[in-house]
Amino acid sequence: MAAVQEPSFRQSVDLMFNRAVGLMDLPPGLEQKIRVCNATYTVRFGVRLRGEIQTFTGYRSVHSEHMEPVKGGIRYAIGVNQDEVEALAALMTYKCALVETPFGGSKGGLCIDPRQYEEHELELITRRFAYELAKRDLINPSQNVPAPDMGTGEREMAWIADQFARMNTTDINAKACVTGKPLNAGGISGRVEATGRGVQYALREFFRNPEDVKAAGMEGKLDGKRIVVQGLGNVGFHAAKFLASEDGAKITGIIERDGALVDDRGLDVEAVHRWIVNHGGVKDYADATYVEDGAKVLEQDCDILIPAALEGVINLTNANNIKAPLIIEAANGPVTAGADEILRKKGTVIIPDMYANAGGVTVSYFEWVKNLSHIRFGRMQRRQEEARHQLVVDELERLSDHLGDAWSMKPDFKQRYLRGADELELVRSGLDDTMRIAYQSMREVWHGRDDVTDLRVAAYIVAIDRVAKSYRAKGL
Ligand code: NAD
Repeated sequence: MAAVQEPSFRQSVDLMFNRAVGLMDLPPGLEQKIRVCNATYTVRFGVRLRGEIQTFTGYRSVHSEHMEPVKGGIRYAIGVNQDEVEALAALMTYKCALVETPFGGSKGGLCIDPRQYEEHELELITRRFAYELAKRDLINPSQNVPAPDMGTGEREMAWIADQFARMNTTDINAKACVTGKPLNAGGISGRVEATGRGVQYALREFFRNPEDVKAAGMEGKLDGKRIVVQGLGNVGFHAAKFLASEDGAKITGIIERDGALVDDRGLDVEAVHRWIVNHGGVKDYADATYVEDGAKVLEQDCDILIPAALEGVINLTNANNIKAPLIIEAANGPVTAGADEILRKKGTVIIPDMYANAGGVTVSYFEWVKNLSHIRFGRMQRRQEEARHQLVVDELERLSDHLGDAWSMKPDFKQRYLRGADELELVRSGLDDTMRIAYQSMREVWHGRDDVTDLRVAAYIVAIDRVAKSYRAKGL
């Protein structure tokens, strides 16, 4: 069979962008200004490890500075390249606009397989990379604020924050130079789970709209739906865990690097996750069927497919075989432009990455605001809220004393009503609100215009329109 020609990741993003602007009325100059990536910085630096100097290549790309700071994760993976960071930076611009976080788009990456290094080596490499970026203001609380992505997490963000603070000893806002930090280093409750939580909230909002569920050829609620997840890392693990334990969904397939696990009765997500952490993969996990060719499980019969690992996994070679009527793109760019077209023709509904995984940047925004305000969310109002609730409860108790036993509060009402919201509850509330509003803004365009037939183009239209307005307001 002749090799199929796929566009690169960045070309894929541009093709999707072009499809949307084709339906908009933007001056060509402005359209081009929004599409292009403003700048990409490539750095090569040496670190002395194991007795010799090793050279690493890293990137930080800034797609759009219509709002600053610009924001986007830093990825550690061996396949990182300029095309990929530029595609991811562009997606960040549109994502931030769609969920109304006041940032431009950026992304960074380091060509490295983090599993090949000891923790202290990774610290040296990360600090050196952070130094190179900070030196050029590509890490800076008011200009460019990274976050975790594939291969990085809280630990790396804490090193970056500390490195920046060492270089800027008098900057009172230094902690706001990066998000996704651990709580004890200026992080916020709920950031680790945020992207997976956002996927859950996105699906909940989708299933609140029966018309949309019908468009995917399904009915009912999330309860009992069969889900296949690819990648049980930060995003995939949290999404799968919450959907199974809180919404009654069944995780019937988990795909990892070394193969997949399937079980029609539903997999125990936490047990599989523990197995991966301890054994480095899913192979030999006892309570499920192991499939060596993991990618084949993307084609398994299920209700919802959640690609949560890497880009381009649903492409021209397998799009026709995908059976899930609903795909939610937890990863960035998991469906290529060519596959997107095939799936759209088949009637598959795709909840696009730009929206689906925006939970991370949303809670990162809350963390950045927390760092700049130097106070934990809820600290001022929590006890005051509780005191006001106490007034109502006291009054209800006084009335029930008069009315007798027939009129009494439910046993747990008092305790639940009295408790003021802590930071985690506020973060979840802000995230839920963001995901609901952003979904409705896409949905309005999806159902409101005859020339828009899918959520992705709707998302691009909403996002590009906002970016365009912002450029216009600047006089461009
Ligand atoms: P992660 O490194 O925590 O997890 C990735 C998982 O995918 C790992 O378990 C890895 O083993 C698995 N994986 C890698 N290659 C695979 C393959 N070929 N087949 C199956 N599984 C494979 O990364 P993450 O932070 O969860 O990010 C995953 C995706 O979500 C990326 O596309 C990232 O850009 C996107 N994303 C992440 C965040 C975030 O907050 N972390 C936010 C938005 C988007």
